[in-house]
Amino acid sequence: MLSIQPQEVPLTQLPTAESLRDQILHHLTHAQGRGPEFATVFDWRLAVSYTVRDLIVGSWVGAIRAARDQGAKRVYYLSMEFLIGRILEDAIINLGLDRSMDRAMELLGLDKHRILDDEPDAALGNGGLGRLAACFMESLSSLQCPAFGYGIRYEHGLFRQRFEGGQQVETPEDWLNQPHPWEFVRLDYSYTVGFKGHVEEVDGRAVWHPGESVQARAYDTPVIGWQGDWANTLRLWGAHPTTLFDLHRFNAGDYAAAAEPEALARTLSRVLYPDDTTDSGKELRLKQEYFLTSAALQDILRRFLAEHDDLELLPEKVAIQLNDTHPAIAGPELIRLLMDEHGLDFPKARDLARGVLNYTNHTLLPEALERWSTWLMGHVLPRHMQIIQMIDDDHRQATARPDHVGIIQHDQVQMGELAFIMAGKVNGVSALHTDLVKGTVFADLHKLHPDRIVNQTNGITPRRWLRMSNPALSGLIDRTIGPGWTSELDLLGGLEPFAGDAAFLGELRAAKRANKVALSNGLLAGLGIKADPDAIFDVQVKRIHEYKRQLLNILETIALWQRIHDDPNAGWTPRVKIFGGKAAPGYWLAKTVIHLINDVAATINRDPVTAKYLQIAYPPNYNVTMAEHLIPAADLSEQISTAGKEASGTGNMKFTMNGALTIGTLDGANVEIRELVGPENFFLFGLTAEEAAVVRARPGHARAAIEASENMRIALQLIAEGRFSGGRADPYFALLDRTWNDDPFLVASDFDAYYATQRRIDQAFGDAAHWDRMAALNIARSGFFSSDRTIRGYMADIWHVTPLTGES
Ligand SMILES: *Cc1c(COP(=O)(O)O)cnc(C)c1O
Repeated sequence: MLSIQPQEVPLTQLPTAESLRDQILHHLTHAQGRGPEFATVFDWRLAVSYTVRDLIVGSWVGAIRAARDQGAKRVYYLSMEFLIGRILEDAIINLGLDRSMDRAMELLGLDKHRILDDEPDAALGNGGLGRLAACFMESLSSLQCPAFGYGIRYEHGLFRQRFEGGQQVETPEDWLNQPHPWEFVRLDYSYTVGFKGHVEEVDGRAVWHPGESVQARAYDTPVIGWQGDWANTLRLWGAHPTTLFDLHRFNAGDYAAAAEPEALARTLSRVLYPDDTTDSGKELRLKQEYFLTSAALQDILRRFLAEHDDLELLPEKVAIQLNDTHPAIAGPELIRLLMDEHGLDFPKARDLARGVLNYTNHTLLPEALERWSTWLMGHVLPRHMQIIQMIDDDHRQATARPDHVGIIQHDQVQMGELAFIMAGKVNGVSALHTDLVKGTVFADLHKLHPDRIVNQTNGITPRRWLRMSNPALSGLIDRTIGPGWTSELDLLGGLEPFAGDAAFLGELRAAKRANKVALSNGLLAGLGIKADPDAIFDVQVKRIHEYKRQLLNILETIALWQRIHDDPNAGWTPRVKIFGGKAAPGYWLAKTVIHLINDVAATINRDPVTAKYLQIAYPPNYNVTMAEHLIPAADLSEQISTAGKEASGTGNMKFTMNGALTIGTLDGANVEIRELVGPENFFLFGLTAEEAAVVRARPGHARAAIEASENMRIALQLIAEGRFSGGRADPYFALLDRTWNDDPFLVASDFDAYYATQRRIDQAFGDAAHWDRMAALNIARSGFFSSDRTIRGYMADIWHVTPLTGES
């Protein structure tokens, strides 16, 4: 059929600045329909984006062809979230175009930063889980592993955050209100996804008659790997009505009813659920999860059957990774497709499904574990409810498990158990977390299946999080050890000998200072805050959650302020405390903490007595782009979650790689960071996970700890007096009450250790040469935290795939 020889070839020769300029002008005219003299920043950005996109498409088409021609096993990463951020600069860097593009923009008289800053973040995720998926996509391409990411094309990503009177106000995010130059809509790849209705038995076979259905349409974005040789596809599903609106009803004047099918479809891919750690059990959320999963599995089977005719080969050719339990309906859905559409029997379908599915656990917090009532599951997905029952019965018989173990408990479908039972491998995301998964949430299932749980410690892509976001530091590293670290991050180890080299340390300090000056200018322009670039830049940026303990940080800040105020000439080390992060709109306590931080900042920042020593900045709307600006400017990384609660963290890795030192607990990947950078280069404090469990069980633990801590009492007293809230403390009564009487995250028990460690840090920062040496060692020993290492681990231990080359 295809008589034309493929034209696309991977980029072998980089275009010159002049040819980039010409291409930009070409796209400005022919895609945007504008002459340069009339072009807006938006027009220019699109013209630049199309120019860069043209250079990606060849590798992309080539990669897809190579995978097909070689009959390669594909990896499918199913995730409800992809927290991508901006695409343009990342693509420029991965293609190696940064120099020539700078020059091309100069030739056109364009301001590069204005163009790059015009791009909205693709914020299709809440926090760490979604950002992990984005880092994985980039590493999969950089490693030339044939892969697809599957997600939802939310019209509205994570809400925008503003502060009014210090309180969080959410407004809708609207990144798709303007043309999105990176996506390709595939009208030919669309699938029907059904809901509700009933199941009928016909000749011993189940036939599901859905009561509603929508069409899932593919929107593809190429994800270019380092050096531009390979691009995989991020395929996001948009929901569309299966039938056009009802013309009869419309003509009869019933406009609302006529638009019903459209309304159902549009709500499915309308908004991202803005909650990262609690399961709200909403019907729409279940429908979204099934929408993603069903469309992805239908697409996977279609591609498989286009290349192979024997379903037995599925496990050899397909590996599916479930990012958390959100797509865990994949087990029953794949069994349904294999049984009801392809005629296999249950045992065969079950074995094939288990041969391809794997599940990543991301949390131990009980409130985050997804559960659906059997009623809702049976109502929305009646056929799946039957299959879930079959899977559960089958597992009970196969394992003779105890009664309290299983998928269905107390009329609820436990998605963690479903995912575990249907998975070939289950993984935790840091060494400590994996141990806790084995010992707590899945202790019983682990005993029944002792080889199933494995660890894959998270990582981050060094292309975005070091090379792109920190040009000052990456330039220094290039000059010192060459650029090979970008794809082999362990080569950063070559910096180790320079940790004793005064010239290198001087340049390292200069790079950090340049980043701090840039951030300081931004804070002044944006918030009116004067941040002294010679102060410690102490940064805690992440979702606001009780377990992450922003409260501990702000209470320590209050106590410190009072101490400075009492004795301003005691030789204090200047500090700028920087906070960033959003709270889930319905998470009242987290929103109270945001209010408190802003109230405290307003009071402290205007105290002339302490102004030189303490400033607090809380820029609103923390997102990937803000992280890229803040992290390279940080001296100190706050990773202070209650031990046993943070599965891994990835923010912690970004800071380490950028030469910030960590103050942290023995939680998540902090444990591995500390071991690798060396305990002497890490500021550890606080209870261990085991100790925390013991203290939590002790009645009155918080009260006892507060009574023993003068500094904590001072801080709580000032809040209770309304010192930060115009004399009225009622906004904080509930927070204070919980801190004294409950404190499940052990802020009180860890307070004194935290305060004392911060004072050790004040001292350590005063010894600049020693501090710089510690920072250099943190960078040099951070190579392990590349997501390339993580993906290699998944490829070897879970997916059993090998990299491909572009030639077939
Ligand atoms: C890395 C990242 C996170 C995750 O941070 P943690 O500190 O690991 O919770 C969240 N949001 C954004 C925007 C990030 O870049």
